[in-house]
Amino acid sequence: MKEARGRSFTAGRRSSGPVRPTGEARSSFARESAPRPKRALGQNFLQDANIAGKIVRALEIQPADSILEIGPGAGALTGIVLEQTPARLVLVEKDRHWAGERMRAGEGKVSVVLADALLFPWERFHKPWKFLGNLPYNVASPLIWNLLSLASGLTKAVFMVQKEVGVRLAAGPGEDAYGALSVWVQSFSRPRLEFFVPPQVFFPRPKVDSAVLSFVPARGGIETFSPSALARTLHACFQKRRKQLGTTVRAAGGDTRQLEALDIDPGLRPGALTVEAFHLLSLSGIF
Ligand code: SAM
Repeated sequence: MKEARGRSFTAGRRSSGPVRPTGEARSSFARESAPRPKRALGQNFLQDANIAGKIVRALEIQPADSILEIGPGAGALTGIVLEQTPARLVLVEKDRHWAGERMRAGEGKVSVVLADALLFPWERFHKPWKFLGNLPYNVASPLIWNLLSLASGLTKAVFMVQKEVGVRLAAGPGEDAYGALSVWVQSFSRPRLEFFVPPQVFFPRPKVDSAVLSFVPARGGIETFSPSALARTLHACFQKRRKQLGTTVRAAGGDTRQLEALDIDPGLRPGALTVEAFHLLSLSGIF
């Protein structure tokens, strides 16, 4: 009975046309007697089959792929991933109800882990893996920060996040949105803004727009910097992003000549430095 319920929910959404109205989606939720979406878990469920298909296609799934989806919820993305028959699909879900539903609907083709993705041991993913998720807004930034820096086996990831976070992740030097998150993430990966998603394709509707991004490993990897020193450097510099770098360096007990030796102008603000310049700065030992 529960298995049939889970299956019909997913099949119903996938059979929908270009954009399924939220009202219809809401009544679908009521019909399936699903629990009320939990705001604390960022549960805004995707209701549009076309957008779900576009997100999954961006991951470029191959038959040999091992895929891990974060927060599968009611399975909007999961069903489409399964249609592509990857070698392995692991789901990490914090909500006991939805973890159980995905287990039942997965018919043995998925492994479901009831866990908090923020506490997951991403450093164990050193073999090739692809990651996917329509991420809860409140955990997206720390989760992406951790996962991209720890999961060395990552071959590709596709995440949906709040639009502002998406813009920050992909921002470059000189842009308002460029900050510690941009430099950190771009040290490990090459993020690409794929497309934006409006609020009306979710139930319940969030107050903000969303963005879908893909990530592939950065060239060079961590050979060019030390992650712990980079984290310290970013914290020191972007905590005072309006201050000139020379001032920040002096406050840390350093000397502006150390910046000049790295060919970094002490009069610049941190938002003007490239990712590579931050790597050099992190290796200088100033912070
Ligand atoms: N993938 C579904 C979709 O696209 O409709 C659900 C996306 S919903 C935005 C976020 C999902 O992440 C929910 O299923 C929620 O329960 C789950 N979640 C929230 N916080 C989590 C965490 N810390 N670890 C794992 N899953 C989490």
